[in-house]
Amino acid sequence: MVLAESVSKSFGSNEVLKDISLEVKRGEVLCLVGPSGSGKSTFLRCINHLERVSSGRLSVDGQLVGYRDGGEKIYEMHPKDAAKQRRDIGMVFQRFNLFPHMTALENVMEAPVQVKGVSKAQAKARAHELLARVGLAERADYYPAHLSGGQQQRVAIARALAMDPKLMLFDEPTSALDPELVGEVLDVMKNLAASGMTMIVVTHEMGFAREVADTLVFMDGGVVVETGDPREVLANPQRERTRAFLSKVL
Ligand code: ATP
Ligand code: MG
Repeated sequence: MVLAESVSKSFGSNEVLKDISLEVKRGEVLCLVGPSGSGKSTFLRCINHLERVSSGRLSVDGQLVGYRDGGEKIYEMHPKDAAKQRRDIGMVFQRFNLFPHMTALENVMEAPVQVKGVSKAQAKARAHELLARVGLAERADYYPAHLSGGQQQRVAIARALAMDPKLMLFDEPTSALDPELVGEVLDVMKNLAASGMTMIVVTHEMGFAREVADTLVFMDGGVVVETGDPREVLANPQRERTRAFLSKVL
């Protein structure tokens, strides 16, 4: 579903991603961990067309994310194909960024109606279903300001799912939450993984990684330092840098 082949990304002279190669197969969950500034968000942003890679190849569902900044341009993606590819990717950020003037239900309905041209009645029925799936059937008519952080984040997940993504990207979805609200969001993500969704999750929740991920990738300074089965990497990290990092977060 996601294939990165020697992906590099620079901001000016700052090389933030260096020769990243990894694969996430359909239905798999990859957890990406690493210290601040290691390039985790940048990598997700490249997948989601929010940044362009500087070199290497990145493809989603067999289709090259066809943009590069600088260097030789091997392929220019048609904007329509790019828009289609983006629609197939759901993303959930650290901050819930729901539309504050819309209810939970309206937040979830918005993109299918505006972007996909789904009828309001159909979008509404689906939004109710999705809110039920994230445990918020009773909160459909609440505005974000009247929901807890954990509830807002679950609405954000339902909103991403409303576009029927093939791939879900999570960028530290629980790190802005009070500790007692983390579990309810992780539970929704666990269920999503169990339903077969392909996911890349940037997180410091090692319990989640151990339980849910097929692959754990430890990144530092823009390079993949270590990758493997999460249980093995967590129990027996092979590299000193991984060990040092894990000793701080575990
Ligand atoms: P954190 O755990 O703090 O979220 P991260 O691993 O997600 O860190 P990134 O946000 O990907 O790290 O940032 C990697 C590096 O890229 C940092 O040095 C950052 O300053 C730099 N960077 C990110 N976005 C930009 C940008 N738009 N312009 C210039 N530099 C950037
Ligand atoms: Mg980040």
